[in-house]
Amino acid sequence: MCGMFQALSQCLTSPTASLRHAKQAHAVLLRLNLFSDTHLTTALISLYANTFSLSSPQLHLILATLPNPTLFSFSSLIHALARSSHSPLVLAAFSHLPSRRLAPDAFLLPSAIKASATLRALRPGQQLHAFAAASALASDSVVASSLIHMYLKCHQLSHARQLFDTMPHRDVVVWSAIIAGYSRLGLLDEAKNLFCAMRDHGVDPNLVTWNGMLAGFGNSGLHGEAVAMFRVMLVEGFFPDGSTVSCVLPSVGCLEDTVMGKQVHGYVIKQGFGCDRFVVSAMLDMYGKCGCVEAMGQVFDEVEEIEVGSLNAFLTGLSRNGLVEEALEVFRRFKESGMEMNVVTWTSVIASCSQNGRDLEALELFRDMQADGVEPNAVTIPSLIPACGNVSALTQGKEIHCFSLRKGIFDDVYVGSALIDMYAKCGRIQLSRHCFDRMSAPNLVSWNAVMSGYAMHGKAKETMEMFHLMQQSGQKPDSITFTCVLSACAQNGLTEEGWRYYNSMSEEYGVEPRMEHYACMVTLLSRVGKLEEAYSIIKEMPVEPDACVWGALLSSCRVHNNLGLGEIAAEKLFLLEPANPGNYILLSNIYASKGMWGEENRMREVMKSKGLRKNPGYSWIEVGHKVHTLLAGDQSHPQMKEILEKLDKLNMEMKKSGYLPKTNFVLQDVEEQDKEQILCGHSEKLAVVLGLLNTSPGQPLQVIKNLRICDDCHAVIKVISRLEGREIHVRDTNRFHHFKDGVCSCGDFW
Ligand code: ZN
Ligand code: ZN
Repeated sequence: MCGMFQALSQCLTSPTASLRHAKQAHAVLLRLNLFSDTHLTTALISLYANTFSLSSPQLHLILATLPNPTLFSFSSLIHALARSSHSPLVLAAFSHLPSRRLAPDAFLLPSAIKASATLRALRPGQQLHAFAAASALASDSVVASSLIHMYLKCHQLSHARQLFDTMPHRDVVVWSAIIAGYSRLGLLDEAKNLFCAMRDHGVDPNLVTWNGMLAGFGNSGLHGEAVAMFRVMLVEGFFPDGSTVSCVLPSVGCLEDTVMGKQVHGYVIKQGFGCDRFVVSAMLDMYGKCGCVEAMGQVFDEVEEIEVGSLNAFLTGLSRNGLVEEALEVFRRFKESGMEMNVVTWTSVIASCSQNGRDLEALELFRDMQADGVEPNAVTIPSLIPACGNVSALTQGKEIHCFSLRKGIFDDVYVGSALIDMYAKCGRIQLSRHCFDRMSAPNLVSWNAVMSGYAMHGKAKETMEMFHLMQQSGQKPDSITFTCVLSACAQNGLTEEGWRYYNSMSEEYGVEPRMEHYACMVTLLSRVGKLEEAYSIIKEMPVEPDACVWGALLSSCRVHNNLGLGEIAAEKLFLLEPANPGNYILLSNIYASKGMWGEENRMREVMKSKGLRKNPGYSWIEVGHKVHTLLAGDQSHPQMKEILEKLDKLNMEMKKSGYLPKTNFVLQDVEEQDKEQILCGHSEKLAVVLGLLNTSPGQPLQVIKNLRICDDCHAVIKVISRLEGREIHVRDTNRFHHFKDGVCSCGDFW
């Protein structure tokens, strides 16, 4: 028996013992009924705890099979679990004590309190507090200070303060904790008062006290206070350590206090903190925020071994300073070198792309990220949603919507609003509205998102309905709200309603008309042919009209072929934006429509002499998980041959069904493209055909165009929608066109 005892004891305490050993030993103990031996039982429990592989049911089972564990064996179990950060199991083990008629002591209780603090579990924490109070352990200073920490972690400052005030002996740790608690909440005066009171009570602050205060002020946005406090600390002769430096640098960065930043940098070099990865990240972040790209690059280059936190700070710094290309280059270099990228790394490059209009790259990176098995988080998702909307990547947009539901961030009002906007831009206005209706507390951004969606789709009735619902909800409109309703009215030629909203803006809502509102009114009036009325609005404007306003007039002059006002608008535009080819083209088209070939030619010569070329026409379409870019007249798409064949077939069928291309559409083409390109090559037509070839029959298609859709493509896509039985959504720079059964939702008015 003695030999067996020794063997068991050795097996249990061996440093190489595994879960399997623990289970075997457990079985032997049960069989030989050796549980009365405290030493073995305790060793067994510790071994279980140290194997890191316990689940809560397993723990309960083990504890249930131990006939009479002592407080000592429980303590070693709980301490082992606490050491390996198994907070839920610490609480689970603790809950077995009462049934074993064991009462925790002043050593065991703090472990449990600490576990509930780590889990921010207020209820168990409060139960432990009640127990401590009943058993007179509450007056123990370790117990009391762990309760204070717990309440602070659970954001119950007043509870923490109550306990703090009744404590007879308060050491520097408790003082520091309560001061940090107030600083984190931005309660500046109270934190400072406590700081003074601490000294009055004869307790000297230490680095932890200072660091807690600096970090707290920084986190609550009191950057000026944090930096001021840092100066006081230096004056008082304290030597900052690595964590002081990483606490204060974010505030230095937010204040863009380059001078202080450089001083801290010098101190870091002198003290040799350059190996502390938190210090390195904080310095990169600070230089990035201060716009000191060179200094940031130097810090990065001097780090011997880059770890992922510093890389993330560097990437964020680069993209904050608009250096997207550099950020991508660094990202790729480190990825190729085999560095393990985490979700923050991926998110920072994705955000960098999507914030700089590189939507396709952002989506591509997102796919690579998923392929690497990295799950997006609550920061990745909001930066991807706009990218999906911008390139009409509906499939990916829906996936990201699912992620947001799974991550529980759908309720975030900004995520919700971004989804509303994304669905609207992907042509799914009902889904957009659905997202809006599911929001528990829509704000101004959400209302504007849903209204701008309706406006984009030319749905004036719905836009105005939302405006009234918004009134009823008590939400005040802003200038964006009025841009939405006015542009909805403008697209539908609703002059009376337009005037009403326009007049009510400043009179009823105190929103002064801005440039975009004048532009909407000019579009509204001039599109329905009231060009003189539109011109008089421009003349009465209290501010100098900008290119948007004159541009609105010029495009309508082109629609109605009004030469007089067209020339006036064009002259202004040539001065305001001399390099925009669109204006020359519009005026030359007006000349052409009047048969003024000499003038038309002169415009072309002017363009040529200025080296201006038409903006290339691009279209995008999502097929499966990939967004394809098609360029007018570009033959490089791998399926181009098939596309052209299909287009030929469609042309034949169209002719059979009586579709006649307009003889003068060359002149009406704002893109001024060559004749043969028009016959087959406009990018929106190519994109539609690519969609037809690669999706199953009946599936709707959505295409985006970077310019206004031309008359011919509009007519052709109408016919295609009927011949192929497809719904086709085309978003151009102005609005949405929903083609179905041979008609377009815009009623040919755009
Ligand atoms: Zn076209
Ligand atoms: Zn249309």
